[in-house]
Order: sequence, then C-alpha cells, then structure tokens
Amino acid sequence: MRQARRVLSAEMVDFYTVAFRLSAKVRPATMKRVKLFDGEREVAAVLTPGEKGDTDRGFFTTVQKLDLTAGYYVKLDGFGAKDVIPTKIFDCPEFVQKYVYSGNDLGAVLGENSTTFKVWAPTASSVILNLFAAGDTVPAYAHIPMTKGERGVWETIQPCGHGTYYNYTVTTAVGTQDAADIYAKSAGVNGDRSMVIDLSKTNPSGWAETRRMQPKRYSDVILWEVHVRDFSNRIAASRYPGKYLAFTEQGLRNEAGIPVGVDYLKDLGVTHIHLLPIADYATVDEAHPERSFNWGYDPKNYNVPEGSYSTDPFHGEVRVEELKRLVCALHDANLGVVMDVVYNHTYEGNSSFNKIVPYYYYRFEPDGTYQNATGCGNDTASERLMYRKFMVDSVSYWVREYKLDGLRFDLMGLHDLKTMELIEQAVHCVNPHAIIYGEGWDMGATLDGSPRAIQGNIGKISPTNGAAGAISVFNDAIRDGLKGSTFDLHSRGYISGSYGETEKQVQFGIMGGTGNCAAGWQVPGAAVINYMSAHDNNTLWDKLALSNPEDTVQQRMAMNRLGAAIVMISKGTPFWQAGEEMLRSKGGDENSYASGDAVNNLRWEDLQPGSGPYEMMCYYRGLIAMRKAYPVFTSPDSAVSFRELPGGGMAVKLDDGAGSQALAVINPTQEPDHFLLKRQWHLVADGTRAGNQVLDTREGAVEVPPCSILIFVN
Ligand code: CA
Repeated sequence: MRQARRVLSAEMVDFYTVAFRLSAKVRPATMKRVKLFDGEREVAAVLTPGEKGDTDRGFFTTVQKLDLTAGYYVKLDGFGAKDVIPTKIFDCPEFVQKYVYSGNDLGAVLGENSTTFKVWAPTASSVILNLFAAGDTVPAYAHIPMTKGERGVWETIQPCGHGTYYNYTVTTAVGTQDAADIYAKSAGVNGDRSMVIDLSKTNPSGWAETRRMQPKRYSDVILWEVHVRDFSNRIAASRYPGKYLAFTEQGLRNEAGIPVGVDYLKDLGVTHIHLLPIADYATVDEAHPERSFNWGYDPKNYNVPEGSYSTDPFHGEVRVEELKRLVCALHDANLGVVMDVVYNHTYEGNSSFNKIVPYYYYRFEPDGTYQNATGCGNDTASERLMYRKFMVDSVSYWVREYKLDGLRFDLMGLHDLKTMELIEQAVHCVNPHAIIYGEGWDMGATLDGSPRAIQGNIGKISPTNGAAGAISVFNDAIRDGLKGSTFDLHSRGYISGSYGETEKQVQFGIMGGTGNCAAGWQVPGAAVINYMSAHDNNTLWDKLALSNPEDTVQQRMAMNRLGAAIVMISKGTPFWQAGEEMLRSKGGDENSYASGDAVNNLRWEDLQPGSGPYEMMCYYRGLIAMRKAYPVFTSPDSAVSFRELPGGGMAVKLDDGAGSQALAVINPTQEPDHFLLKRQWHLVADGTRAGNQVLDTREGAVEVPPCSILIFVN
C-alpha cells in the first residue's frame, strides 16, 4: 500500500523562520503551494525551497515576528497539515537572551503574610492560579489570573500561606491544561496539587544539630542500596513497616534475636545508605499503597518526597518531616543518606513540565515525537538551559534542605556533561563531602555535539576544590567480569568458572577503572563504583544459581565470598544491593520493579545463627571492618601490581606509599594454587573469615584453597 503523502515536520527555527519537510519530493510548482497558517489566516512569508529542482523540504521567512503563543501550521493540498512546533527556537540566541530566567524565586515563595507564586511559561497566553483548601479533590476556592512579567515569568501575590494547595491552568498553542508546579516542595495525595509549605515547620527535633557524614574521599564510602519499602516491610516488630519512619526505629530484632533495621546497618558497618527514588513518583496510589509496588523510577514531582512512604500522604508537610526524621536517625547512627535521582525522563510525556511549556523540557524528533533513548518514552533535555537550571536547583535544594550525603544519577549518560559539571559544583558548594555517582552508560542519545556524561567522559569533570571527589561511574566491567554478563543469564565470570576470559576486567576494577583497556573507557582518581549487584537484573545469589546450577550451595557461597572480597580490595567505592550480604533472592525475577512485596522485600527472618544468610552477612561485616582498618585499601595513591600464580590465580599487591601495604592472593580455580611469601605477612582475611584482627602470620610457601582468597597486610 502506498504511504499517504503528508507534511512530516514543521518547526520554528527562530522568530522569523519555520522549516518544514514533506514525505515526498515535489516539483517546484507544487512547492510554491505550501502555505503557513495561523488559524484561518495565511501568514505572510517568503518560501525558500530547500534545494534546486524537486525537493521535499523548505522554509518560510515571515514578514512579522512569530508569536510563541500562536497555533501555526504548515499545509499543502494533498499532503494535509502539520502543526508548527517550537523546538529549535528554544535554542536560538534571541529566545535565550529574552526568556531564559536565572532567578531563584520560581515556585511558591512564602512571605510574612502572603505567598508569591512565579511560574516560567514564555509560550503561554494565559496562566491562572487555582487555590484549594486541601490537596485531594475539593473544588478550588479561588481562580486568580496571573500577570506575565519579564522573561516569560507569570506572577501573582496572594494572601495565603503554609498549607494552601494550588495548581496552574495554563493556556498555550497546545490547549488549556491543569499542571502542578514543577518547583513545588510538597503536594497533596498523589502529587496532583502542589502545596505552599513553611519548611521551618517541618524540622524534627534535633534537626539543627544533625550532621552530615564527612568522608575525606569517595573511597572511604561503602554503599548499601535499598528501597524504602523493602527495607522494613517484613520487619514484624516495626511500627512503621514500609515507611520512612522505620529508619528511626531502634532496638528492632527478628524472631531469632538478631538486630534488624537500623541496628543491623550499624552492626554491618556500611557507611552510606543509598535509597532508591524517594522523590514523588506516579504509579503507587498513595491513598492505597498496599495495592501496588514500584521502585519509583517514574518521576512526577521532583522536589516533593514520595507520599506512599509517609504515614499521611494527604497532608504535604508530613512526608517532608518524616523524611527529615529518617535522615536525622541515619545520621545519629553514623550513616550517610544518598538519594537516587531520575531526571532523565518523567512518568508521562504530558507531564507538568510539558503542560506549562510544551516541547521545551524534552528532546523531540522534528516530527514532534519524543526521543526515547531511555526506553521510558520521553527523554528530558538536560542541555536546555531552563531544564539544566531546574536540575541544578533541584539537587541543590535536596542536599541543602534534607542534609543529604550524596546523589546517584539514573541513566546519567543521557545528560550532557556541562549540566553534570554544574551539578558537581552546586552540590559540593552545599556539601563538599557529598558523594555523586551515576550510570554513565552510553545509550546513544543525540545531543547536537555536546559531550554526554558517559563513563569515558566523566573524568573531564574535576572535583571542586575541597570536595571528596567529582563524579563516579558504575563500573560494569568489574560487575560482569566477576559474575558473568548481566544480560546473559548463563554466562559465568571470574568467580564462577570463567576466570581466564575475565581476569583483565577484574584487574581493571581492582585498579579503580584504569590501567588496561578491558572496559573501553578509563577514569582518573578511582572514580568508580565497584559492585556485583544492584536493584536491576538478578540478585547475585540468583545469578550464581542460574550460571552454576550444577554447583552446590557451599560452592556458590564460596564464589560469592570471593567476589565480595575482590570488590572490597578494589580502588574506588564498594557498593551492593541490600541483602547481597544475606543471599538475597528474588526467585530469578530480573526486573522486579513492580513485582510486589513478596518478591522484593528484604527477608530479615532468614538471619538466624548458623544459616547461610547469617554466615554470609558475618563475612561481609568482616570485610567492611578490614577495609576500614587498613588505609592501603582506601588510599587513592595506592599502587597496584599483579603477579600470576602457577595454577591460574593471581596475586595483587597494594602499596599506599606511606607504609601501608596489602597482598591479596586470589585463586578462582577449582584446584589449590600456590604462592611464595618472601617475607612475613599478617593474614586478615581468607575464604571464610575476615576482619580487622590478624588471624595468622605467614611466610614462605602458602597454599590457597580453590575459589578463595588470602588477604595479608604488612
Ligand atoms: Ca507518589
């Protein structure tokens, strides 16, 4: 069947130019009949065909300046019409000079007896502020037309304050739509209505005194990644299962009397708790959270805490206060709080961003469809100046107001490098000890020449003076090197049988993301997050069961311990998904983002003296203590060298140049391997034990049992 002929695209390029493209080449006489309209009226313009002879493209140069609020379209008989979209014009110098706004007062700013509302909407013809007495479905008690001021900022001052709920009715060329305030700091149930909030009323007791963690460098941090609801939902003794407040509960024990919850974390020894998204997301009904489950990578209100984790999602101040209480409690336990942020897409394309300034905040194809490198349907445009500003403002707000200790950027490789550089500066200006890291995968988004924040580029960002680091990237080379490809369920890695093929990847990780070409990218300063498991893909325990079904549980536990020990001696920052240290299983569910509580929640009841999960936890606890005790494991200056063992293993020597040395003798094979110690070394870990105490002193020939490690210090 022949494709219907149509106008493929029509875009405003600047204030006098509309470019268009047809689905087929036409003769010059036909090209002359292409028209530009504004409603019923033909717009006076000169049409220039794109090339000589038959062509499928051209552009109009208008006599009058284009009106950003108007609904233009390009029409050709036989080809139909196509709405003109304002995409390229947003980047033209005149738009940038005239409309980009640098003020720090967008949103609802509380005054003494009034609130000033400001919203950036340069393409709107009308913006109405609607006020509500509650955040759910009560009708508005006022509709106030706002005034358009400089730079496309609409404004009104109203005699209302803390606890007032509001939204905007915005009219643009696309139509009239209700939108939440993208700068809102809290919201009513399910985030449809924004809330005016007096943040000083949300500070829990002890807030002024609470102190952020102060790691000197990123390698001092040990990250434990957990979902707020998974953390506590199965703690029988918790008063707040699944909520922020479960992190404030002390003295929790499971039925075997083992510490769980925050007491467990203190005992384990990790330094920072990385929380899966805690900003408002869309798909869990906050009024009935028990009916659904989601990881939260479906952002709705970026500056508002998620309501389903609060004890009262209907009153916007509660979620803010309870999240602050979580931060306070973790700080009291000497634990940092890292927030997972998802600025690369929104839950739906027609978000509040797109309702307020259609086409501005996203990357679009010329035909008006959203770019989709995220696979989530609508890639945002970090390189657009007002979205870049939004991201910088947003992360700065979170780190400042909630006293956070770090940020993890979802699909960071889709953001442009400049934006991440500005974020590094802004965040470290608020908190120089904050750890910033992200997924620097190269996902191929088009970005008009700007470099993206991918693994190979991230080293171009230098740390702000005095900061603990710049931006680290997840190291998928050591991840897949150790356990086999994440995406090929049955493939094996260094710990699970394929040690010959993966040794270089593992060495790349031990050296901190440098030193060989195994990954195809390198970073300076050990700016890597070394890990075996994260929320995505199979848990480590499930992966080992899939890749090594013939091996016994004891053999797989040996693999797990070997992998954990290698991560813990590697330069950079160790990281793992909560429960990796207790043989967490999701029953082979490799994408459990909406799989419910039974699959996802941590099974604290598995921790019983003598059980596999308990035994594994003790080994991880020992490795953590070891890493913290000897500076050679965390020094960015540690030199790394390797020696091959006769049976296929390797010895790793670390030397910090300041007197601290370590030697790890690694045997990934199924037979014993051997190494000659030329002088005395102190054993601090082997295949089953680890800690900050010397277990033994050795010299001369040592035998390393199959699938295990000996770690010595001087
Ligand atoms: Ca929500």
